[in-house]
Amino acid sequence: MLQVYDPASGQPIATVRTDDAASIERKLVRAAAAQPAWARLGLQARAEAIARFAALLEAEQERLAILLAREVGKPIAQARAEIAGVQGRIGFFLAHTEETIAEQLVYRGGGLEERIRYEPLGVIAHISAWNYPWFVATNVVVPALLCGNAVLYKPSEHATLTGLELARLLHRSGVPAEVCIPVVGAGEVGALLLRPPVRGVFFTGSHATGVKVAAAAAPHLMRVQLELGGKDPLYVTDDVDLEWAARAAAEGAMYNAGQSCCAVERIYAHAAIYERFVERLAAAVAGLRVGDPLEETTEVGPLCRQAQLQLLQAQVEEALARGGRLACGGRRLERPGWYFAPTVIADAHHGMELMTEESFGPVIGVQPVADDEEALARMRDTRYGLTASVFCAERARAERLLAQLETGSAYWNCCDRVSPRLPWSGRRHSGVGVTLSRHGILAFVEPRGWHLREPSWRVHGCAGAQAASDAGSGQERRNEGPCSPASG
Ligand code: NAD
Repeated sequence: MLQVYDPASGQPIATVRTDDAASIERKLVRAAAAQPAWARLGLQARAEAIARFAALLEAEQERLAILLAREVGKPIAQARAEIAGVQGRIGFFLAHTEETIAEQLVYRGGGLEERIRYEPLGVIAHISAWNYPWFVATNVVVPALLCGNAVLYKPSEHATLTGLELARLLHRSGVPAEVCIPVVGAGEVGALLLRPPVRGVFFTGSHATGVKVAAAAAPHLMRVQLELGGKDPLYVTDDVDLEWAARAAAEGAMYNAGQSCCAVERIYAHAAIYERFVERLAAAVAGLRVGDPLEETTEVGPLCRQAQLQLLQAQVEEALARGGRLACGGRRLERPGWYFAPTVIADAHHGMELMTEESFGPVIGVQPVADDEEALARMRDTRYGLTASVFCAERARAERLLAQLETGSAYWNCCDRVSPRLPWSGRRHSGVGVTLSRHGILAFVEPRGWHLREPSWRVHGCAGAQAASDAGSGQERRNEGPCSPASG
């Protein structure tokens, strides 16, 4: 059994039965049996079901937002924004799946056609994270279903009730129960999904778990997509409006209590404005309203996982011991639940875990840099590569810096931002593969090459020489004989 806790009180709120090896075996068999009929149904019927899902989501938004706030600790306004934001992603997939996976004629000549057809992978597994459970699952489950796959969906053990709601709404929308099957449990249950008939695993979570998932999937040669953590930098140059930049950086670091994959995790400020920027950043962060996630005015709620409190405390203590200056916050709050005070540590440097390891909480370090070159060197000093942000007046200056960073997303005067129209991906330890954009639709299909030759005696009337060529498959055979196309 899985115990679900309310992070705002630390008290249990529900118990859910978990899956085991036997139940997963049954689910895999059911999904594999149901998938071909779902694929044959056609894109239009599948899209109609997804459109009904979007309508249900809109109708039930408030109930679902309250559940999300209670289960994950997300402030209610941010919970509503996440569920409303899912509509934009579904809208993108509905508008672009057909053209993205439409069959392509890439060559025609001499009685030969070459076509690319996109086929679903078959059964896929989505192993999900808790920090944006609606966004993360939508990025995978919706395009996977539209493309004709069956999905085994394991929500994070910290967002199970939300995950079960998502599956229920899909079923109410007309997606067959066997085509989207929720799986309940923690890591050991997720590990049971990494075998045939699963043909692809789409994972979102930490780097450490991502490596385990890739290793377990390797013997089966399934498609592996990993959306992992980051240590995303933001550089504030010497020519920006400091009040504005400080507010934007505070929001980028503290939204969702800093538990965003693309949260600002480290800040570099040009020496010319450093002290003034730190002052404004600390004021903006200290002014955030911490409180119960169900209160309308709350801007920062509790952490979703109790264990993260110790990690943040350890990062703060180490940073202070190594010369960091506490500008605000710095400790767990004395109230029920898993609250950590929004924290700014100035004079940070790369000898601190605060600046090198993911914090995933409302804690941010700021380091002064002498110039753009030093900022660049610091930003590059990481094994992660999810996003990077430069705040400055001149676009050319920002683009020059961003071009030299290895990240999946580059931000000029914005941060902590995801768009359904753009590919979402990480470099190096931040992952492999892409969600969102057209690339995030193609992730759920296999391109298949079709070589289609009209019977040659009908086209050219020279049966003898071409018969061998028609049957042949090798390059040499293809170019043999008088009836083969010169450019074939
Ligand atoms: P996590 O790695 O602890 O867990 C992720 C999922 O993996 C959970 O569902 C968990 O049950 C499952 N799991 C754990 N061990 C497993 C195993 N051995 N085999 C299969 N499944 C296993 O991560 P989390 O705490 O849920 O999420 C936080 C992390 O996710 C952060 O690092 C964050 O940056 C990252 N994240 C990245 C993105 C992105 O788009 N790049 C988005 C959201 C979160």
